[in-house]
Amino acid sequence: MTTGKGSDVQRPLISVVAPVFNEIESLEAFYQRVREVMRSSGESWELVLVDDGSHDGSTDLIRRLAAEDPHVRPVIFARNFGHQIAVTAGLDYSRGQAVAIIDADLQDPPEVILELLNKWREGYQVVYAVRAEREGETWFKKTTAALFYRIIYRITDVKIPLDTGDFRLLDRRVVNVMKQMRERHRFLRGMSAWVGFKQIGVPYRRAARFAGVTKYPFRKMLKLALNAITGFSYFPLQLATYLGFISAGLSILAIPVVVILRLAGNQAFFGQATTLIAVLFLGGVQLISLGILGEYVGRVYDEVKGRPLYIVSETPEDFE
Ligand code: UDP
Ligand code: MG
Repeated sequence: MTTGKGSDVQRPLISVVAPVFNEIESLEAFYQRVREVMRSSGESWELVLVDDGSHDGSTDLIRRLAAEDPHVRPVIFARNFGHQIAVTAGLDYSRGQAVAIIDADLQDPPEVILELLNKWREGYQVVYAVRAEREGETWFKKTTAALFYRIIYRITDVKIPLDTGDFRLLDRRVVNVMKQMRERHRFLRGMSAWVGFKQIGVPYRRAARFAGVTKYPFRKMLKLALNAITGFSYFPLQLATYLGFISAGLSILAIPVVVILRLAGNQAFFGQATTLIAVLFLGGVQLISLGILGEYVGRVYDEVKGRPLYIVSETPEDFE
């Protein structure tokens, strides 16, 4: 069994994985709180900090923390690869028997890790933290997030728990399975639901950001939502089929109606406007269907290229 440096070999190693993108204002406080919490847990621990191409000095802070504290295991990316990929790298470099994924902005209180650990000790392999309350987030973010979780729940095959982010604790066995899932467009909550094992949720209050602004603008949230849907469902593709059947069905029904109206001398369908609307509507439906197809084809293309998921410029070994 691998353990942290200088730690008790008998106790399991717990890894805390945090992705960091321009979190200079929160990072020091985050590190302090994680350290307090992990000390109180009585387990040996490591903190895997994945620097996702920060350009605000977070990288130097991570280097410094690693130099001062051997618990800190730094992984420094060559550029920004996005939150989901950063967490993936964190899982890859983690060594613990249990791995907690947590945001570095202190929105997920590190103290909750202790509750997650308790459930893990009871024998659960995936313990996810459920957002019972969210503080300091805009009405827009909360509404779109709530809507997103419900749409995903309805249309995907995997039952991804509602109102659950990536804040969770995974057993080593689950991490090992997820390490084999090298898909590029990732939705980690879906993936960790998909693997099975014994899973349970723990409610918590999601705090406001400690400092700084969200690194997840609407554009990135949309991308994540698309990855979640395309990664776990064919529903959008089937939508084209449904729409095709509906419009074909409607047009067949319309034939006798038009014939009868014409025979009765009704002028209703002589205009060009009707034709124009029908053509534009169907053109729109076809283009949207093509676009949906494109989303899937593009993802297939990305997979086929087989590029590495991320590029690391400094590994933990560079700091030993
Ligand atoms: N993050 C990252 N790469 C990115 C965007 C975000 O590693 O491209 C990190 C960020 O530093 C934080 C976590 O992912 O630790 C969650 O991001 P954020 O708090 O901005 O998202 P929100 O909580 O607003 O959804
Ligand atoms: Mg946040």
